[in-house]
Amino acid sequence: MSRVALVTGGTRGIGAAASRALKAAGYQVAASYAGNDAAAAAFTEETGIPAFKWDVADFEACKAGIAEVTATLGPIDILVNNAGITRDGMLHKMAPEQWHSVINTNLNSVFNMCRNVIEGMRERGFGRIISISSINGQKGQLGQTNYCAAKAGEIGFSKALAQENANKGITVNVICPGYIGTEMVKAVPQEVLEKRILPQIPVGRLGEPEEIARCVVFLAADEAAFITGSTLSVNGGQYIV
Ligand code: NDP
Repeated sequence: MSRVALVTGGTRGIGAAASRALKAAGYQVAASYAGNDAAAAAFTEETGIPAFKWDVADFEACKAGIAEVTATLGPIDILVNNAGITRDGMLHKMAPEQWHSVINTNLNSVFNMCRNVIEGMRERGFGRIISISSINGQKGQLGQTNYCAAKAGEIGFSKALAQENANKGITVNVICPGYIGTEMVKAVPQEVLEKRILPQIPVGRLGEPEEIARCVVFLAADEAAFITGSTLSVNGGQYIV
């Protein structure tokens, strides 16, 4: 039986591309989502990948959701922490709700998901945890103190978790995409995109979701066993660390 992969926020954008690519690579795949039922239904109809609705910011919902996925496909071997949101604003105008919703959805979710899969992975002696952080968690970005804090937090979390589980067959890695052409980025006004964002990207274009998905498949492989605690920058040369 092929390994089981769960992609949070796996029905749209980068997550959907990762779900598709994992399926094409031979994995059994489940995708989670928050509330866009129409997008999830269209995704499942097109790909045959089952979609499960729960809020990754809610620990108990993650526990129940993971149990449902496990009952459907089997224990989770590969977890892709991809679900994320933005609620941008300068700190001097940021409401507490903007701060907490981004920290809860983008960072606390990673604890919620990992805590609920890690014991099973340790028992079975295999696991791949891949979190989708961001270039802005590496370099900072004005108007995104909440998002940058969450995304930088994912990197530190993953480095620690990698060390805790390195002798258990579990790898923990982070991918930091630059600007990728998903709905999140298409919401940016065209003028800002053309005049401010594209000139910062040496490759001269936005990335494609499939270019992140390729990295997910690479890190998910059994053969990627020696890569752990790493941060993979995929940003068209915009920020070279
Ligand atoms: P999209 O907005 O296109 O898709 C987000 C997905 O996450 C959707 O499936 C959505 O579900 C799901 N989601 C959002 N909130 C929750 C929640 N509380 N519980 C469960 N699922 C949730 O995002 P992108 O594909 O653009 O981004 C994916 C990840 O990549 C994010 O973590 C983002 O921060 C990161 N990233 C994106 C970049 C980009 O340029 N696009 C750049 C760098 C990082 P639903 O469909 O129900 O809303």
